[in-house]
Amino acid sequence: MSSTYPAFIWQNGAIKPWAEATVHVMAHALHYGSSVFEGIRSYETPDGPAIFRLGDHLRRLYLSAKIYDMVIPYTIDELSSACRDVIRKNGLTKAYLRPVAYRGLGGFGLSAETPIDVAVATWEMGPYLGPGVLETGIDACVSSWQRFAPNTIPAGAKAGGNYLSGQLIAREARRLGFGEGIALASTGLLSEGAGENLFLVFDGQLHTTPASAAILTGITRHTLMTLARANGIEVIERDMPREYLYLADEILMCGTAAEVTPIRSVDGKAVGAGKAGPVTRRMQELFFGLFTGATKDQWGWLDPVG
Ligand code: PMP
Repeated sequence: MSSTYPAFIWQNGAIKPWAEATVHVMAHALHYGSSVFEGIRSYETPDGPAIFRLGDHLRRLYLSAKIYDMVIPYTIDELSSACRDVIRKNGLTKAYLRPVAYRGLGGFGLSAETPIDVAVATWEMGPYLGPGVLETGIDACVSSWQRFAPNTIPAGAKAGGNYLSGQLIAREARRLGFGEGIALASTGLLSEGAGENLFLVFDGQLHTTPASAAILTGITRHTLMTLARANGIEVIERDMPREYLYLADEILMCGTAAEVTPIRSVDGKAVGAGKAGPVTRRMQELFFGLFTGATKDQWGWLDPVG
């Protein structure tokens, strides 16, 4: 993506050439992190390209905005159309979509009532954590950086400023040679990956950290919980101590970008057999099956690009 960009982007109501979608250097968001955004994927399906859980992602965008008193000056329907239009206009099918709403130019104070600008970008994206990782799994480490404490920054908002924490966790992990970092919450208990939720497998059951563990309650997390339960796999939301990372039979990370990525080691200790285990493989099969038709989409999660 860094060398060649897609041709078009949607910004403030119009599709325009990528190079023209600019922001003023004094935009509030650039200085104070005052943006909210989403990451969404479209997939090729037997019925044509479809956006996965578009409505759920856009609803979360509006809820993130609500936390920060940002009123997005478009309806969900308008932004849904923008998402579809920008994919079509760029001739993409399998794509990543990035709607973002941000405080623009219009005041320098922290509580300034600036205009809320909105853009939707899209580009092609392979596996986020690197080529082949969906098969091989990744080596993860526990970060020396904790996630933010409750009543400091709301982890449940997908806001630009939150990703300073994510950058510290991800960059430290890469610098030390790991594929991704896992953070503990301020309680010392497990939280989530830099940009992914966590599932640990014990005795065939999936265990995932709760909303109170400073996580973004991911839409992929919800998808896996739903798919697991519909297929007779028990899912438990619970607090877990760090050492469970060393005791679990299997661990997977999930997110829109990371999809369903096995973790084969944590802090240099093998997870189970050191490769994706049967529950992880089953969850990958169910998840990716949504896009091939092997898993029936009984929830209406696929939104045709049209
Ligand atoms: N946690 C964090 C911090 C994230 O950035 C993401 C990616 N948006 C997730 C979890 C997974 O969320 P989702 O499945 O909705 O993409």
